[in-house]
Amino acid sequence: MPYRVFKTRLFNVQLGRAIVVSLLCIILGYTVTFWQAVSNTTQQARTRLQQVQQKVDQTLDSAQQVAMTLTEEFGKPCYAVEPLLRMLLTVSPDVHSINLVHGDNIYCSSLYGPVKAHTTFDNYTKGQLVLIRGYEGQPILPLIIYRVVVGNNSIVVKLFGEHLLSELDVLSGGASMSLVVGRQRWQAHKTPTDQDFPLETPGYLESASSNYPFRIITKLSPADYMDSIWRFSKVSLIAWSLLSLLAGVWVFRRNGWINSPTTELRRALDQREFVPYLQPVVSGEDTHWTGCEVLMRWQHPLEGVIPPDRFIPLAEDSGLIIPMTQDLMKQVAEQFAPQAHQLPREFHFAFNISAHHCKDFSLLEDCQTFIHAFRHNPVKLVLELTERELLVANEVTDKLFAELHKLGVLIALDDFGTGNSSLKYLQDFSIDVLKIDRSFVSMIGTGAFSAHIVDNIIDLANRFGLKLVAEGVEYEVQSAYLRARNVTFLQGYLYGRPMPMAEFISKIPG
Ligand code: C2E
Ligand code: CA
Ligand code: CA
Repeated sequence: MPYRVFKTRLFNVQLGRAIVVSLLCIILGYTVTFWQAVSNTTQQARTRLQQVQQKVDQTLDSAQQVAMTLTEEFGKPCYAVEPLLRMLLTVSPDVHSINLVHGDNIYCSSLYGPVKAHTTFDNYTKGQLVLIRGYEGQPILPLIIYRVVVGNNSIVVKLFGEHLLSELDVLSGGASMSLVVGRQRWQAHKTPTDQDFPLETPGYLESASSNYPFRIITKLSPADYMDSIWRFSKVSLIAWSLLSLLAGVWVFRRNGWINSPTTELRRALDQREFVPYLQPVVSGEDTHWTGCEVLMRWQHPLEGVIPPDRFIPLAEDSGLIIPMTQDLMKQVAEQFAPQAHQLPREFHFAFNISAHHCKDFSLLEDCQTFIHAFRHNPVKLVLELTERELLVANEVTDKLFAELHKLGVLIALDDFGTGNSSLKYLQDFSIDVLKIDRSFVSMIGTGAFSAHIVDNIIDLANRFGLKLVAEGVEYEVQSAYLRARNVTFLQGYLYGRPMPMAEFISKIPG
């Protein structure tokens, strides 16, 4: 896949992830904010309901006190009780009037003195309480009537309702509250009516009095919640929106979509995303593990494991292949040096080396460092140079390869037969090992002409005293063919695929 296409795919994946993260943050933040606003609004409404309910309770308490003062007065004639009624009226500003009733007959009134009037208590809730829109002649004055029963007699205390209504208005705030007695309701900000109203509607909040048969109710609409969210939580909402945006941008940037390909490789190098995969190399004699080839993989946080042909050319162009290879050698040494004693004898590690790496002596230092890490249990180090990317011999390379040989490093020529290296090249770089390319090995047993190339390479290697590695051995028939011709080493899926270091260690035959 060309890098540009890979990059576009990466961009889309990252953009998608950034949007998902942003949305998740928004959903989380808004849910928390809404939940807080809803519970705050509900709590505030409950508190206001209780305040109004206590106010009404207090008013009815004073009516009850008035009534209790009169319980002993039954049996006395009205004219004897009248002064007490007037006095009580004077000291109780909430009380509009008091009637004394025997059975269904009002016989004494604080307003008119002795009277004879029929009355009924059928519409009283629990026989105690009723709301009246107004009284005759002055229909705008609302009254709350409270009755106390004493045997066959009743004391009826009428209370001015406007005071409670204005209390209801003030405490209602935005969400309208109502005083409910039986099926009657007085609603804040509205003229009282005696009309029935359907109760027990879902969503109502109420505070019922435990002393008197009334309750205060309210209903919070979605608009009330939204209003309170906007009033009290707008800063939170704005903060969460910004935070979500930042989270999205952070996710977007974290994986470097805006980076140039080189910067992206450098970031991956810093994050140690380039990791070694090891493929076993076995002996042609008895197929026991004699070494491995170290193959680079990019463990990308979004894309998963990326094969080398998608990033090695770019790494070579940018020169980053050198630190990447150095880090690969370091990782292998860190992992294997402590347990090198468990490796088979003469075990070799083969690294692929780019031509750029041979332009100065840093490669020599890298090999020295690697070999030094294994000083207690030495292993063999092989450098694979690919034939596809030919090196030009000069003073530096002459010296470099001479020094590498002195160190005991073996040089392998990779992909042999696919390029145009000459015999001189084999000599210039003192090649020790030839790697027969997979494309030739795959021809074995097919009768194709290329199969003969394998024989020719084997001949050539024998003549020059070079060791041979056959790559891409996948089938027994290929293995048998190569082993019959004494090919030194075999490598391919038949013996093991490239695998992470930990897996490789667990599979090393004991
Ligand atoms: P290569 O050096 O020729 O590596 C052998 C490739 O053949 C590996 O591919 C390996 O996985 C694959 N292979 C091994 N056995 C079989 C088999 O039986 N069947 C088939 N179909 N394939 C097999 P991989 O790992 O994808 O590497 C591709 C190329 O990337 C390598 O070819 C090498 O040129 C380059 N490369 C890998 N790691 C590095 C590195 O660390 N540095 C440099 N400069 N190049 C590297
Ligand atoms: Ca190789
Ligand atoms: Ca190869």
